[in-house]
Order: sequence, then structure tokens, then C-alpha cells
Amino acid sequence: MPEVIAPPAFPVASPAVEGALQRYFGFESLREGQASAIHTLLEPRDTLVVMPTGAGKSLVYQLAACLIEPGVTVVISPLISLMKDQVDGLAARGILAVGINSSQSPRAQEQALESVARGAVRMVYVAPERLRSPRFMDAVSTTGVSLLAVDEAHCVSQWGHDFRPDYRTIADARRRMGHPPCVALTATATQRVQDDIVEQLGLQEPKRIVTGFNRPNLNFVVRSTPTLAEKRSALRSFLDEHDGGAGLIYVSTRKEADSLTEYIGNECRRPVRMYHAGVPDVERTDVQDQFMSGRVNLVVATNAFGMGVDRSDVRFVAHWSVPGNLESYYQEAGRAGRDGLPATVALFYAPRDRSLREWFIEQNAPDSGSLRALFHAAQRQARNGTVEAEPEHLIEAADLHPVGGRVALGLLEKVGALERFDPGAPERSWRIGPWDARKAESVLGNVEKLRKAKTDDLDRMIDYAEAGTCRRRLILDHFGDESAAESDACCDNCEMEARLKSTPPGEVPAFDAMPMESRIAIGLLDAVRRLPWNAGRRTLVKMLTGSTADGMAKYEQSPYFGRLGTMPQNQVDGLYKQLILQGYLRVKGGEYPVVELTPLGEQVIDHREVISLDDVTLPKTKKRNEKRSTTNAGIGGGNAALFERLRTWRTETARALDVPPYVVLNDKTLTAIATERPQTVAELFNVSGIGPVKADVYGDAILGLVRAP
Ligand code: ADP
Ligand code: MG
Repeated sequence: MPEVIAPPAFPVASPAVEGALQRYFGFESLREGQASAIHTLLEPRDTLVVMPTGAGKSLVYQLAACLIEPGVTVVISPLISLMKDQVDGLAARGILAVGINSSQSPRAQEQALESVARGAVRMVYVAPERLRSPRFMDAVSTTGVSLLAVDEAHCVSQWGHDFRPDYRTIADARRRMGHPPCVALTATATQRVQDDIVEQLGLQEPKRIVTGFNRPNLNFVVRSTPTLAEKRSALRSFLDEHDGGAGLIYVSTRKEADSLTEYIGNECRRPVRMYHAGVPDVERTDVQDQFMSGRVNLVVATNAFGMGVDRSDVRFVAHWSVPGNLESYYQEAGRAGRDGLPATVALFYAPRDRSLREWFIEQNAPDSGSLRALFHAAQRQARNGTVEAEPEHLIEAADLHPVGGRVALGLLEKVGALERFDPGAPERSWRIGPWDARKAESVLGNVEKLRKAKTDDLDRMIDYAEAGTCRRRLILDHFGDESAAESDACCDNCEMEARLKSTPPGEVPAFDAMPMESRIAIGLLDAVRRLPWNAGRRTLVKMLTGSTADGMAKYEQSPYFGRLGTMPQNQVDGLYKQLILQGYLRVKGGEYPVVELTPLGEQVIDHREVISLDDVTLPKTKKRNEKRSTTNAGIGGGNAALFERLRTWRTETARALDVPPYVVLNDKTLTAIATERPQTVAELFNVSGIGPVKADVYGDAILGLVRAP
């Protein structure tokens, strides 16, 4: 009987693996996760590798490709530039690899295909579209596929942040290749996306390897910046603090990129370049090259900039507004500090950014009404069952938004209601198909599921932005990485926590040099932000004064427990009341109302702004009623005049929009605006009845009326 040699225990690399690692790559040892991934592939067993950017995912399939014989390793990668870098790098290490892509001449493609068919190369890199080419499939089948590696595998999932329909053809191509072992790799996959990757690629009982999400050298910071002016000034000081280092600033839209680049260049007087899909190719390449070579150190970019950008000494990545989900955020932010030296990732957060994101989501989720409207518009313009029109015209005729209309058009093609004459040609002429209600319903059902998932993702992102707890822990949990959230400089919240701990009990922590009353006010607000459990006003007061009454035990873990123990409860309560009236806190809920921080309150904490409070040290509350506490006041004097102005504006707006006036704003909200007189969007936001959408749509008009003499 042949001797049975037990396989080496994970994650220690076997001598064969280690030998190849040193021979080909000159590395000392494998990193966390790499060894177990390679050994799993060698079994062979399908493997899903989720490791953050820079963790060394490519090495997993490159090294496996060197060890699995015979046959060729097919690597699917979405970007030509990524392929080229890797192929060049492999050549330098003596590993024969080719890339085949549309940027090459037909002759070069033919030569590459031949070398694959001859079995002369170990690895071939292609984009997923290539799997549709019979010529390519023939070439790899001739030589036999030993391993299929799917890089950036999140592209296969529509729950992921970068879905590419072509990735959906991989599973089928894999079958046609004779079902080789498959490794899917990504830096950004939540549990749900992981499940979807496994399903879409048809991985069989794959081993999942999720490690290394902690980036100890990144410091996480969120700046609360409710208005544009605040954002700008916060960014300006941020740039001053990070002078000298290389940095990226991510924006959500091209328009934002334009205006921010101009602001940084003209107002902050800093050299800066811009990168987005609308910038001409030549210039984009130039920006990327200059940034990579260190001649340009600051780039304002949309998410078009990044994949393949691996300058290691990026000292900060700032986000001008919230991305749609935490995966994109961490992926983009993760471009900072690849050299392992301290780097900062900052998010400039305004609650109203959420509405832009929601708008994106809505536009991508047309309802059956818009589908029908578009279909009818096409029918009206059709002759002999054929419609010839520019998509924009059809969309306009159906009275849809250009962005949402595009999506609706795609869906109509999907359900077969419109059929393109030539699927390869630009959409301009269609055959009118039947309206299949069942198909439409199923497609729309899927759209709705997607909309919901995207909204959930956005919620997680907002949770991060608004978190009062460790931001690093939140990110690790999000990815399912259970390792410790260790770091020297963790995040703004941990820093605050440490500062609180180092302040003796009975004292309010020193928030720089600011008046005592503001320090107390900020402490009171921060106590709300850090509440271990939701609490109403009475509980808060008991906590601050260190009450040992029933039910208070669980609040003892708050760093603020008992901090104002020297003050009588009614005085602390009076201070909270003032903070609520001034809009820094709000009370939410029904049966058990809880106190919450408003965006304005967040801002005050983050910026250490001065707040005036009455009677901080004197128990009597004589002056309080004279000041600002207008919320409950009836409408009188100047407020009544403002109310009338608002009402006139509402009538006009309602007429223009062809809706009843209460749809614009109801009387209660008008009254609240007239009495509270919000001065900023953040304040307007806190008026009950004003949500993000209304703040966005009517904000300027309302603030204009409030400010008018
Ligand atoms: P990812 O695809 O996970 O973002 P890459 O595969 O591009 O990461 O690898 C990032 C860097 O780490 C590369 O420069 C690579 O050469 C290096 N690297 C990978 N594995 C090791 C290792 N075991 N030892 C040393 N360096 C490594
Ligand atoms: Mg990679």
C-alpha cells in the first residue's frame, strides 16, 4: 500500500508552496489567509476569498497557477489596465502570462490566442466579455483550464456596488470549460454579496476565507457639516492639517467634482486635478499618471478613479459626501496608507446628502406606471409596429426623468415590450412587442427588491456616519471580520472616549478653551450621543446626576454617569429643556419618548461651538422664558406676518406643481417654521414635517422667506 502523507495543517504553507513562493516571487512567507486559500485550491476545492485591498489576493491565484498542472489558469478581471500591470509583473518574475483584450491589435490578439492554445502560457487574463468569443473558448479548451480565477468577484452580484452584467456569463463559461476549480476574490463583500457570488458563480461547497479587514494605520474621522459653507470650511482646515501629503477627495457627481475642484484651486489656492468619466480620455490618463508619479498630490474624483490606483503613500482619502454603502466607502477610503504609515480617512457628513443618494436609488427603480407610460409613448410614435426615435425623445414624451427613463427603457427591452432591431447597435429603433404583464411584474418585483436592498445599504452607511461608537469595529462587523479592532489611532469616537476617561469624575472634560456653560452644554449633548441605551429626558437627568434609582444600573456604563452630580436634578433638566428648545436635541417617539441628537447638535459637539445657556450655575430660572423658547408660543407679531408670507408662497407652489397645498406643507409645519424661524438648512431639517426631500426641494425658498425683512 502506498504511504499516505497527511496534508500540512493550515495555514502553514507546504514546502512546495513555500518553494514556489520564494522561487517566483521572492517573498519570505504567505500572509494571513493566503496560505489557506492556496491549499484549498490545491485540494482542489472552490474558494471564496474576501480580503481587503492590498492584502495580496492576486498572489493566491498566481501562485496556485504555478503549482497546478497541467493546463492554463484563466483570470477574469474587469479592467484592462489591471490586467496589463499583472501580466507585466508576472513576466518580470518569469511566469508566462498573456492578456487578451480589445485594446490590442487583431494580430496581437491572434498571437496571444495561439500561445494559449499551444499550452505555452500558465495564465491568461481576460475581461468577462471575452468568454462570449468562440475563438477564445476554443483556445482555452484545447489546452485545458486548470483553474478559473474571478477577480473583483463582487461585480457578479447585483447587491454589490459595481454590478457588471457580463459577470453573469461566467458560470456558463465555466461549465463549457469543463468545470475547473474556481476561486472568486473580492475586497468588498458583505455576507449577502458573498452568498450571491457563491450562487451566481455556482461555487460548490466553497471554503470562505474572510480576513484582514482591519487597517490599523487608518484613522477614521467623520466631520459633521450640515451646510455647504460648513463643508467647505471643514475641508479647508482638513487640507491645512494634512498639508504636504498626497490625498484623494471623492465626490458623488461630476457637478460636485467641478465645483469642488474650482473651490480648492481658486479659494484654497492649492494645486488640484479632477478625474471623472466626463473628463476627456487623454486628460484622465494624464491625471492618473501624474498622480501615480507623485507630480500631482491632490485629486478630486468620482468613483471612476481608483481601481488600479495603488500609489502607496496616499496620506488621506476624504469623502465630500456619503457614498451609497459601506463597501464602496471602505474600498475608496482604503486607498489611503497602503504603505502602512498613518493615514486619515475622513467623511464630511451632511444629513441632507442622504436625499441625493435616495434619489439615485429611486431613479434606478422605476415603477409599473413609468414602464407603461414609456411603452405607450413608444406605441404612439410607432409605424407598422416599429418605433424609430432617440431614447431621450421617448423618455421626454413619457414625461419621465432622463435618468430614470433610461432605466425604464432597459426594463422594457428586458420584458420584451421593446425589441431592438440590432442588439449591437445603439438603441434607436425597436419593434414593438407584446406587453407581458406577468413578465413585467416579475422584473419590477426584482427592481423593488434591489431598491430595498440599496436602501438598507444606505442605512448602514448612515449608521456609520452617525455612530457614537468605535467606527473601526462597525466596519469590521459589517464585513464579518471578527478579529480585534486594534489600532494606535482608531477613530474620532475612540479619541473622545479616551479623553473622557482621562477626565476625573465630577468634572466636565476640557473641550479646549471655551466658556464653562458651553463645556457643560457640549457634555450634555455628548452624553446623549453616547447613550448606551435610548433614554427619555428624566432618565438622562438621573444619569447625569448619578441617580441610583431603579433601572439606572444599565446607564452606569456611560462615561457621563454622575458627572453633574453636584447639580440639582431640576437644574440639569432645565438645561436639557433649553437644548431641546434651541434645536440641538429633539424628542422622538410616542409612549416612551426618547431624546435624540439633531444634526445641529452633532455639529456643535464636533466643532466645539459656543452655546449660550441660561442659569447654568443659578438654580432659579428667571430669564429663561424671555429667550428663544418660542416653540410653544402662539403665532403673534412678526411671526404672523411670516406665516402669511409662507402661506402665499405655498399657494403659488401648490398651483405650480398642481397639487393640493397641504401636500407642499401642512399648516402645522408652516406654523412651526414661522415660530422657530430656522436660519440654516440644518435647522429647517429639525422642524417637524420637514424631511430630507422637502428640505432639499423647498429649503432655499423657505429660508429666503424667513430671512426676508
Ligand atoms: P489585492 O489584490 O488584495 O488588493 P495585490 O494582490 O495587488 O492585493 O497585492 C498587494 C501587494 O502585496 C503587492 O505589491 C504584492 O506583491 C504584495 N504581496 C502579496 N502577497 C505578499 C506576501 N506574501 N509577502 C509580501 N508581499 C506580498
Ligand atoms: Mg486585486
